[in-house]
Amino acid sequence: MTHRGMMYVNGEWKEGSGKTFKVASPVDGSILGEVHEAGRDEVKEACEAAYEASKKWRYSHHSERAKLLNRTTEILGGMVEEIAQHITQEQGKPIENARYEASLAVGAFSESAEDMARLESPVLQSMDPNKRVLTIWQPLGVVGIITPWNFPFGIPAHNVAPILAAGNTLVMKPASQTPLIAGYIFEALAKAGFPPGVANLVYGHGGVTGEELTGSELVDAIAFTGSTEIGRKIAESAGRTIKTMRLELGGNGPIVVLDDAHIASAAKDVAGSCYGNAGQVCTAGERIIVDEKIQKEFTAAVVQESKKVKLGDPFKEGVTYGPLIDEILAEKVDRHVADAKNKGATVEFGGGRAEGFPTKLYYKPTVIDGVTADMEINTEETFGPVIPIIPVAGDEEALSMAETSHYGLSAGVYTRDIARAIFFAEHLQAGTVEVNSPPTYWHPFYPTGGMRKSGLGREGGKFAITTMSQMKTIILDTR
Ligand code: NAD
Repeated sequence: MTHRGMMYVNGEWKEGSGKTFKVASPVDGSILGEVHEAGRDEVKEACEAAYEASKKWRYSHHSERAKLLNRTTEILGGMVEEIAQHITQEQGKPIENARYEASLAVGAFSESAEDMARLESPVLQSMDPNKRVLTIWQPLGVVGIITPWNFPFGIPAHNVAPILAAGNTLVMKPASQTPLIAGYIFEALAKAGFPPGVANLVYGHGGVTGEELTGSELVDAIAFTGSTEIGRKIAESAGRTIKTMRLELGGNGPIVVLDDAHIASAAKDVAGSCYGNAGQVCTAGERIIVDEKIQKEFTAAVVQESKKVKLGDPFKEGVTYGPLIDEILAEKVDRHVADAKNKGATVEFGGGRAEGFPTKLYYKPTVIDGVTADMEINTEETFGPVIPIIPVAGDEEALSMAETSHYGLSAGVYTRDIARAIFFAEHLQAGTVEVNSPPTYWHPFYPTGGMRKSGLGREGGKFAITTMSQMKTIILDTR
């Protein structure tokens, strides 16, 4: 990457407001670079560029957009290893996981082009014999994209690709913890030949850069991925300017383990789901609701799985997970664990920061038994490598315990009884429910999104395109 830390506005790499901020690696604390911050004026400039570019781009043919998107995939395709190394250094996930994130994300551009080419819209019956009624998808206009740090390359790519394929122009602000990696996408878009102003990149913190974007009258829609707390602020600001919103928010996913579950495989999946990316996954198992008849056996199996986990340098092969992103998150994990202990839960394994690493952000794999509904670890998203076990008496209590948190992104159920599986799949309030499978199983073309306080709209494959498009009805008279 050659334009590290610079904004990309109207086809030019720029320095921004004059203010800069440093980006530190959670892996070893090293400074990875300095980023040029966009103030309110620079965000305005980017929105104006996107607005002007939209006047032509919105009428471009999808096949013309497809050529540029395919070229983007080709350009990035040759850089997967470099991108993966950068993801690990900037965000801290194991290199194998970073390679997977990078390779899926690189494909997003050509896949969005295909999804767009195959998009259907209905022709409707008319009540008048002389009229014909058809529908077409049209772009929304200018989309503001705001992304989090936990998939710092994947989430930007899976947003930018369908939003461009649908004929929108965009201004993106990546998370301030992991801003640099997004530069690869915009360098590739520039090289592929996207016209100036179609895709713009600004850096900065939520309070100024993000707020200016969500409040801009020139922006027609917001695609936000992040916490429920910030999602609420964004919805208020975007609501004032009547924007379409797609909000992918926080999760606090329950995994329900019923008394007939295959305990060994449920325990293995639960550990995989809770420890992957150090628990910093929106769809991770956050609350493990277990029938008390199997609680003891299940907890022992989960502790066994936790002993196999390798916490360490994410660049080393075989490491299960690395550091948490920053001290703010690490303190939240500390707080949730302390609250659970104070209210009577038992730490069965781990339960604190690990010693002997270059930063204090390495957190031990942790199993807590005897968690109850009133504990913060049950009601709030923890986002750390913690397995909280919540015992319940029977299926009915399991379902009502699942509902004691206001989130609804992902959920799982383990049972060998098909009727119970279907009952829970239909009744758990979550955008995705996985049966006998960890709730982090995902592929980019599945529709994903939240119920309740976990969001609005769906992304994934053609769903990401339709959410970021609007349907127009055309009525023709044949006389
Ligand atoms: P966050 O909400 O703190 O920040 C997300 C983005 O919003 C960042 O770019 C931030 O700078 C920006 N922002 C902050 N304040 C803003 C404001 N007032 N106006 C505009 N923008 C503002 O989230 P995070 O800590 O970066 O990411 C973790 C969260 O993201 C977790 O809650 C996780 O569950 C969620 N997440 C959800 C999904 C999903 O698909 N539903 C995927 C990944 C992460």
